[in-house]
Amino acid sequence: MTRLSPGDTIGILGGGQLARMLALAAAPLGLRCHIYAPEGDNPAFQVAAAHTVAAYEDAAALARFAGAVQAITYEFENVPAAAAAQLAALAPLRPGATALAVTQDRLTEKRFIHAEGLATAPFVPVESLADLRAGLDRLGVPAILKTRRFGYDGKGQVLIGSAAEAEAAFAAIGAAPAILEGMVRFSRELSVLIARGLDGETACFAICENEHRHHILHRTTAPARIQPALVTDAERLAARLATALDYVGVLAVELFLAHADHGEAELVVNELAPRVHNSGHWTIEACHSSQFEQHIRAVAGWPLGNPAMRCASASMINLIGDEVSQWPALLAEPGAALHLYGKAETRPGRKMGHVTRLQNGH
Ligand code: AMP
Repeated sequence: MTRLSPGDTIGILGGGQLARMLALAAAPLGLRCHIYAPEGDNPAFQVAAAHTVAAYEDAAALARFAGAVQAITYEFENVPAAAAAQLAALAPLRPGATALAVTQDRLTEKRFIHAEGLATAPFVPVESLADLRAGLDRLGVPAILKTRRFGYDGKGQVLIGSAAEAEAAFAAIGAAPAILEGMVRFSRELSVLIARGLDGETACFAICENEHRHHILHRTTAPARIQPALVTDAERLAARLATALDYVGVLAVELFLAHADHGEAELVVNELAPRVHNSGHWTIEACHSSQFEQHIRAVAGWPLGNPAMRCASASMINLIGDEVSQWPALLAEPGAALHLYGKAETRPGRKMGHVTRLQNGH
């Protein structure tokens, strides 16, 4: 049985704000969500029909969870491979185990992107200090050392400004398996959110433009101010990657709009996220079907909705750490759509909420 019925339950691994917004999008479609997360502050529990608190290594709890749901998805890419394999044998896992395996490891991901004929930053695998030194010789400085696994929001990354910094940089990432990336000269950071259904149908949201502060997404605006030809290229590239992964759900493709020496613009793939993404939050108010609704539809085996925008442009700003204290003013601002994630504790760097503003352009 690949298609869910209204009243069925989707299992979601992870209990953060992405799972929360997925559960909120499932409700109007008559679908329930059961959240599975280890102990902690889990904002998704507040809005879901059921939840399980257990470790991702707890095979008995995973089996009970799989037995209680009709399909399973996840809000983060670091689902342990053993858990993914066990769950996929018991219920449809969407996106599937291939998408997880490819995107959990920066080296595997980069090789996959190359195999699809697409550009990435120049890179070399690093297993040892000798590899790192050889890589710095080859790629030059500055370069960025990134752990192959478990990196996010700039964690597990070190910028290397000179060859003399190699030893300290390798120590800073705990001598973990890594890749060294050459710097891409870019004018914009873009992302493509693409949904792919069970039948292979794809639908892209408007390409959006991202600004980071301290390695964390600060603002996303859509549509991105880029040439129409680049929009077509970005959509094709995302569809190609989603199809190659036999993907079901929303896939986020982060891109650099890079400039070669002769000035020509080129799309370089930075990273893939096999899930709904922070740079797609604006779609809740700005599009006919949000990224969360598209993901739920795809996971349910249902036809995709309409990703077209209902406004001329939109912008989303994250509320990080103490910025969440602005909530009374945002609440009073006409047209500002405030989202608070219901997290018990405010911590520096923690995503506490976001605000979206729409512009009509006339
Ligand atoms: P990542 O965690 O790989 O998405 O990297 C976080 C941020 O660091 C990106 O959004 C870029 O702003 C910057 N960055 C990462 N890799 C590169 C690169 N190879 N060249 C230039 N900037 C980079």
